Amino acid sequence: MSISEKPLAAGRRSQWPVLQQPRGLVVYMGMLLFAALFLFGASAALTSVHLSDLVAFLALALCAGICVEAIRRLGVPAGFARDLLGAWWFPVVLLLPPLYSLLVPVPVFLLLQLRARRALAHRRVFNATAVGLSGFLASVAWHLAAADGLWDAVGGAPEAQEQLGTAAGVLLAVACCAAFTALNTVLVALAVRISAGGGSAPRPMWDREACTVDAVELCVGVTVAVLAQLSLFLLAIAVPPVLLLQRSLLFQQLRTAARTDPKTGLLNAPTWEQEASAEIARARSSRGRAAVLIVDIDHFKRVNDNHGHLFGDQVLLGVATTIAQQLRQSDLLGRFGGEEFVVLLPGADTAEAWQAAERLRSQVGSMQIAVEEVPVSITVSVGAAVVGEHGNDLVELLTAADLALYRAKETGRNRVCLPAARQGGTRIPGQREGGPFGRGLPGQIG
Ligand code: GH3
Ligand code: MG
Ligand code: MG
Repeated sequence: MSISEKPLAAGRRSQWPVLQQPRGLVVYMGMLLFAALFLFGASAALTSVHLSDLVAFLALALCAGICVEAIRRLGVPAGFARDLLGAWWFPVVLLLPPLYSLLVPVPVFLLLQLRARRALAHRRVFNATAVGLSGFLASVAWHLAAADGLWDAVGGAPEAQEQLGTAAGVLLAVACCAAFTALNTVLVALAVRISAGGGSAPRPMWDREACTVDAVELCVGVTVAVLAQLSLFLLAIAVPPVLLLQRSLLFQQLRTAARTDPKTGLLNAPTWEQEASAEIARARSSRGRAAVLIVDIDHFKRVNDNHGHLFGDQVLLGVATTIAQQLRQSDLLGRFGGEEFVVLLPGADTAEAWQAAERLRSQVGSMQIAVEEVPVSITVSVGAAVVGEHGNDLVELLTAADLALYRAKETGRNRVCLPAARQGGTRIPGQREGGPFGRGLPGQIG
């Protein structure tokens, strides 16, 4: 592609965000959608339509719709949000022929898109496809136990739901629903990995919190299925507890979202400032040490201009993840704004701060992010300041680190700068005569 084509292509593509995604991701999403449509056609040919199935489908879709409405009223946290809609997917998997598991995400995700929160259309379609495919396969596995063969299971053996009347059947139901959750998580994790271009480790999708929510969702979903199998009217008593559980889950997420930056999952600026101020005050009162780093991506505007903002966002996430991997548990990392990150290193003196900053710089520099299989390299510049040496409170430290960062930019980027130590201040091992740190730069600031 010639240079002059890039802005034009980017401008045209911006109307179709899906086309701005890495090619691998578009192919992956397209393949899943194709598989879902193919299975829909095949299972539709094998499934006989019963009025009772249609009524159960509508009742469960209505319950899911009520949950979506409740989500809308409470508000949806920015970024990745968890709900309890699985409580309604699982009964569809267990009580109805597999065809309905492919269908049920369509009205529910449409409602989410129109009523709760607008997301990029291709992401909604992908999520609905992943839920539909996982549900379909789990449902086929569930029906297989009561069917004469695979084709019978795909068509939905009506005796399958009678298994829910026995303890062994309920255990099998739990296993099938767990497989649904696992498969759905794997499909989504694969998409995240492909979209990260393998350049950065995506955030883990199976941490303890996620597993707890999955387990609760599974228990609730199977319980709802057992109730609905007795009578669809019992769904009326299942809706309030599900709504209450979902409400507490969303409330927790809204609280977390108020503290974090949605693009990177790091602390947002106000929260970082609050926590960093407290840590610096603690360090000052106990004559302890602490350092502040400001990390700024070099020429980030060019990355956006050349590859689009969505790719820029992936770079932000990649840099955030790489920095986080280099820090200790006790370090405080936040996104300060735009393409700037801030780190508080409790207990660090000047030498340690410089070493940490150098490590971050070199790790980000060796990070691999690919756009259309062409690797794009990113560098960062870092300004650092140490409690007692360059400032006594957060404002002074940020000012000193910002000036050091400014100098790092002015002197060529992809480097670490510290303000010059005050008279009698600490000497850095490896510091050259005249004050340069690491790269032979003038070590004086204003
Ligand atoms: P320098 O090396 O001097 O820091 O140059 P730079 O291009 O990184 O800095 P500049 O301040 O000129 O541009 C910062 C760019 O960061 C401009 C803005 O579009 C981009 N940016 C800010 N926030 C976001 C974001 O959330 N996502 C994306 N993709 N870009 C962002
Ligand atoms: Mg900047
Ligand atoms: Mg920058």
